[in-house]
Amino acid sequence: MDDERKAKAAEAQKRYIERLRLDPVKWEQYKAKRRKIRKDYRDRHKGEESFLERERMASQKYHEKNKDDGAYKAKLAEKTKRYTNRKKEDGSYSMLRRERNKRYYDAHRVQRLEKQKQYNDNHKEEKAARDAKWRDANPERVKEYHALDAALRAQAGILSLEDVREIYTANYDRFGKLTCEYCHNEIDLTMKRAVHLDHFYPVKPRKDAVAGKTEIANMRIVCSSCNHSKSNKDPYVWLRSEGYEDGGAYRGTT
Ligand SMILES: [Zn+2]
Repeated sequence: MDDERKAKAAEAQKRYIERLRLDPVKWEQYKAKRRKIRKDYRDRHKGEESFLERERMASQKYHEKNKDDGAYKAKLAEKTKRYTNRKKEDGSYSMLRRERNKRYYDAHRVQRLEKQKQYNDNHKEEKAARDAKWRDANPERVKEYHALDAALRAQAGILSLEDVREIYTANYDRFGKLTCEYCHNEIDLTMKRAVHLDHFYPVKPRKDAVAGKTEIANMRIVCSSCNHSKSNKDPYVWLRSEGYEDGGAYRGTT
């Protein structure tokens, strides 16, 4: 019975609207009235979370349905432009943009580093040429850099011949032949500069890494490939990234 009444009411409503549509003035009045009712409803409920959630869902649904529609896209672009202009006028736009950029930057850290690495690998020669040009143009800065480097190394300490002997002996004792303490490959002494003495904690660490001294406990015998790859990185971060253990822990260091 109830359903029947509802269907009848809907039918009557439909006929009523069809009649209104025939009269442009009445139709506009009707639409304005409906708009006002909707607006009043929104004003009454706009602080309520459940209402906001419903609005968000509806707007998302609308967007999904119309996102490929040309007129909708133009309208949306116009709206975005108005929003941007408003924010530019009140001075908050650059801050918003910075925040948005930072969010994107942080969220894409891994991809960013990978891309940067790929770019650098593909442009090694250009970079070397650029660096050489910079060095030629800035001899004073180069001199300063070398002086600072020498000072830091002097400050870090110096190994005695006895120390070096101890480091090599420990390596032979452990492996039976001269071996890289990170990758455990035998060091190929037929190669030029095949064996390196590496500072486990770098003397000049990159940001966030711990600095180390030139002392027995901090030195590792390594192959040139490991030394170049490890560079001035945090040792444990590098070891983990390569899947190696701490090659020198047997000398009682951490
Ligand atoms: Zn190695």
